[in-house]
Parts: sequence; C-alpha cells; structure tokens
Amino acid sequence: MTAQIIDGKAIAAKIRGEIAQEVAKLKEEHGVVPGLAAVLVGERKDSQTYVRMKKKACAEVGIKSIGVDLPESVSQEELIARVRELNADPEVDGILVQLPLPDHINEEAVLAEIDITKDVDGFHPINIGRLSMKGRKPLFAPCTPRGVIELLDRTGIEIEGKNAVILGRSNIVGLPVSMLLLHRNATITICHSRTKNLPEVTRRADILVAAIGRAEMVRGDWIKPGAAVIDVGVNAVDDPSKKKGYRLVGDVKFDEAKEVAGYITPVPGGVGPMTIAMLLKNTLDGRKRRLGLIE
Ligand code: NDP
Repeated sequence: MTAQIIDGKAIAAKIRGEIAQEVAKLKEEHGVVPGLAAVLVGERKDSQTYVRMKKKACAEVGIKSIGVDLPESVSQEELIARVRELNADPEVDGILVQLPLPDHINEEAVLAEIDITKDVDGFHPINIGRLSMKGRKPLFAPCTPRGVIELLDRTGIEIEGKNAVILGRSNIVGLPVSMLLLHRNATITICHSRTKNLPEVTRRADILVAAIGRAEMVRGDWIKPGAAVIDVGVNAVDDPSKKKGYRLVGDVKFDEAKEVAGYITPVPGGVGPMTIAMLLKNTLDGRKRRLGLIE
C-alpha cells in the first residue's frame, strides 16, 4: 500500500483563501478589520523570522498586524504593562507573545496576563484548563494542535471511536492535540520518554500523531496498516548535498511509513503550514466572537 499524502501546504492555502473572504465580508458588512498584535522581545533571529512570517500572512488575508518590539532588557513589569494596553485596545483581537522570552522574564506570568478573549495562541491557563475539561471548550485551541485536527477533518479521516496514539506530552503540541482528539471522541494513548514498548503501542493506532522532536524515530514497522500518520516533528539533519548543509525531516521515517500507512503528512509541507493558518483563523474568530457572530 502507498499512503495518500496529506498536502498541508495546499490545505493551508485553501484555509487562508477562506479567511480572506471572511475578512472582506466583515469589512463590508460591519466596517471592521480584525487585528493581531505580535509582541517581540529581543533580537533572536528565529523569533524575528517567525514574527515576520506571521505579519506577512496577516497582510495576505487582510488582517491588520500591530508590531510591539521591545528590547531584550525590558522588565517583566513593562512587558506586562504593554500586554495590558493591548488587552484594552479595541482594534486588537489577538495577542501573541513570541516565545521564548529572555531568562529574566517568567513566561507563564506574562501569558497569564493576556485577556483570554484575545489569547489566539491558546496558551492561557484558563484556555488550557477548559481544553482539558469534559463538556467545556476553550475560546481558542493552540494553533499547531488545531491544525492537526483540521488536516484530519479536511482529509475526511474519521476521529470518533478511533484509537489515537500521541507521541509527546508537551504543553504546546502533545497534550493539547490529545485533548482535542479526546473532545472528538477518540480513545487516546499519550506516550512520552518513559513509555515502554513504544512500537507495540503505536501499532495499535488508527491515528498516530508524532510530536517528539526525534529525527525519523518512528519506523515503518511501528505503524498499523492503513493508519493516518500526522508528523508534527521538525528536525534538522546534516546533509552536505544541500546548500544550507542540512535538511528538515520529521519524527517519522517517511519513506518506510508511506508504504504502510493509509495517510501521511510530509515534512516539510504537512503540519507546518497549518500553524500560521490557524493563528489567522483564531484571530478572525476573536473578532467574530466580539461581534456576537460565534459563541
Ligand atoms: P518538546 O521537546 O517540548 O516535547 C517533546 C515530547 O516528546 C516530550 O513529551 C518528551 O517526553 C517526548 N519524547 C522525547 N523523546 C522521546 C522518545 N525517545 N520517546 C518517546 N517520547 C519522547 O517538543 P514540542 O512538543 O515543543 O515539539 C515536538 C516537535 O514538534 C519538535 O520537533 C518541534 O520542532 C515540532 N513542532 C512543530 C510545529 C509545527 O508548526 N510544525 C510547532 C511546534 C513544534 P517527556 O515529556 O517524558 O520529556
């Protein structure tokens, strides 16, 4: 069997197109434009790149982006004061604080200051708490996990009643993906670095989500024939044949896995493009909620 490749790039482009249409409609019918504030502290090159990509993506769909750049030396009090200003700003529907923050700042204390109705990254403890409760829904689900669910849905993969195995339990990916799958009535197994007999566990998965950050650790014979494999991992491995000297691979050994799985996401071009698309969707949802158009 050769798996159907889930084209995250194409799915994300379609979603961005849908968002652009909705943004245009909001402007026409309500005279408003959704706004996303990106707070960047310091001069880390990777963080600067992520924020630049997010601003560009906003511009492409007509969302206004508001940049707040602060020096590495900013105090926690000053940073929190800026977050509070954004909380009060009626033009801002989403606030993202680019992580990691410098060591002298307590990230959790800052994230907890974001108004939960503007918490488009979905990392506020109340949103995470709601995500983990039966019968409750967060205002925003974290972007990468929401992207994983969207990929499954848009590929027509049923979730309810399926055995889903999630590799990784981080607050950013593994845990929230698990909770979202549980909300959708999958039976979940969460694995981590102390899990015994990993291949035995993964072979029971109808849906396998890999988010461990270990290059190509999941082999073909770890996979149940026909399973849906969603590879969140992004790992750089040395490759002298490339100009940059490296290439990106997932947590799954793609060439082996695609011969066994029913569906599989490539790396790059699978989950990655969905993360920013979901950030835009969360920002749009923020404005729609303030307008009373959604719950
Ligand atoms: P973390 O390092 O925070 O978490 C890794 C998780 O994997 C932990 O729960 C850890 O277990 C578990 N783990 C590590 N090694 C093993 C192992 N050998 N066997 C079983 N479990 C293991 O990573 P993140 O969740 O932040 O990210 C995971 C991957 O996803 C990374 O490659 C990252 O780059 C990528 N990523 C991709 C995104 C995208 O947009 N595509 C967005 C975010 C992340 P334990 O808890 O016991 O330590």
